[in-house]
Amino acid sequence: MRVDLISCLVDNYAYVINNDASKTVGVVDPSEASPVISFLEKKNLHLNYILNTHHHYDHIGGNLELKKKYNAEIVGFADDKYRIPGIDITLRNNDDWNFGNSSVKILHIPGHTSGHICFFFKNEKIAFTGDTLFSLGCGRIFEGNHKQMLKSLDKIKKLPKNTKIYCGHEYSHKNALFCMKYDVGNINLKKKYEKIKQLRLKGLPTIPTVLDEELKSNIFLRCDQEALKVKLKMKNVEDYKVFTKIRDLKDNF
Ligand code: ZN
Ligand code: FE
Repeated sequence: MRVDLISCLVDNYAYVINNDASKTVGVVDPSEASPVISFLEKKNLHLNYILNTHHHYDHIGGNLELKKKYNAEIVGFADDKYRIPGIDITLRNNDDWNFGNSSVKILHIPGHTSGHICFFFKNEKIAFTGDTLFSLGCGRIFEGNHKQMLKSLDKIKKLPKNTKIYCGHEYSHKNALFCMKYDVGNINLKKKYEKIKQLRLKGLPTIPTVLDEELKSNIFLRCDQEALKVKLKMKNVEDYKVFTKIRDLKDNF
């Protein structure tokens, strides 16, 4: 399966996904229609599906225009059917859905919003994590609580380590600076930062990231690590309290 990044708005990414074997084309989180249409026309592609990770405008803004133009079907979380414009196919936690001949597992990952989902392409080992997991960061908690968000991140952590992560925004550089401030001396993080810095200097995207790299360097995925707790002077503190502390620090970073 091919995944192409489409830059939208200020720092959003939409992703055009293309299963060549079954001639199935989709777009994940189109915040606006025009850059997606330009891409599809340039490649001479038709659009079959629109996949939404959650209902925020910067993920669904292009839904109706794309649906109208291509007669595409919109896929999203069942409980968000009243706030995902144009939704046709409603899915729930653990559902299996077929994108052409790709098998997709739906993970309900609430916290950023109550209806946030992750699309995990099982054979391709590709996950679209929206605004729940970013490279070196995680989403703000708008609906739900820290415990829920941590549980959602734990679900993503359990995916295969070589899973490619495609998230909703290009926040990696600033996220890296935050991680380095609190996860002092993490060699893997430093390596990841250097990579991110070089890519951004060239104006290139830092996405996709790989789950294994995130496990080693994303502070929000490391709240259960004793070494990190010691660094934060939170030894013997429960994981979710460590996570809450870090999330609060990030909100004010
Ligand atoms: Zn969002
Ligand atoms: Fe967003």
